[in-house]
Amino acid sequence: MRLTILGSGTNVHPTRAASGYLVRTDHTLLLDFGPRTLANLQKTGVNRHRITHILFSHYHADHFSDFITYFFDAMIFTKYQGGTRPPLTVIGPRGTKRFFRTLFTTLPGFTHAPFAVHFKEVSDRAFAIGKTTVIPRTVTHTHNLHCLGYRIEYGGKALAYSGDSQYCDSLVRLCGDVDLAVLDCSFPASLPNPVHLHAGQCGQVAREAGVGRLVLSHFYPITDRYNVREQAGEAFGGKIVVGQDLMAIKL
Ligand SMILES: [Zn+2]
Ligand SMILES: [Zn+2]
Repeated sequence: MRLTILGSGTNVHPTRAASGYLVRTDHTLLLDFGPRTLANLQKTGVNRHRITHILFSHYHADHFSDFITYFFDAMIFTKYQGGTRPPLTVIGPRGTKRFFRTLFTTLPGFTHAPFAVHFKEVSDRAFAIGKTTVIPRTVTHTHNLHCLGYRIEYGGKALAYSGDSQYCDSLVRLCGDVDLAVLDCSFPASLPNPVHLHAGQCGQVAREAGVGRLVLSHFYPITDRYNVREQAGEAFGGKIVVGQDLMAIKL
């Protein structure tokens, strides 16, 4: 399994794209698709028209907005440029079907794509994509919003992605004994926030869950001024990676 960080920042950030991760198993998957991640996806050299599954944690714009550009491009590619692509499956939390129904009936042409598009709402139940096992888990982010973290297992390795999350037991369970956990490190420990983890809590989750490697990501601009590795390291003695756009990690 290979992970490439397409975006390690938030909605508006001077140097980092917002949330997005490319995961390669026996399938090519995306976890979230925030602003500026499509440009980074192109830089990876991966054929964007071969992506079969996009998994969303939630629909805050910093996790979603490049999907619109991506889909519009896929329609032009298949309608006017002689291109073909496999069916696309869009997976996300409760409300996914309603959300995309509204979007697709509003944006011109989106309901007439010449390739199959499937929408799937998931909750806390594992499912398979080929030989890849996906385990979504509800995490606590903002009030009244269904947010998912994802655990992906393939080839004897496990990866966890928090999505956006506060500290919660569910997040610790999601990350239980994974080889690599990518956590929402929005803020430094000195600037805690009610709806996101800070660096110290990332370390705490990693320690409690027994993760192999911890990747810190989802940085607000101010967070780059702090030593988040050191802050996370106060709780977690394992390897800590400060996420960067286009960083590739093999599991
Ligand atoms: Zn969010
Ligand atoms: Zn976010």
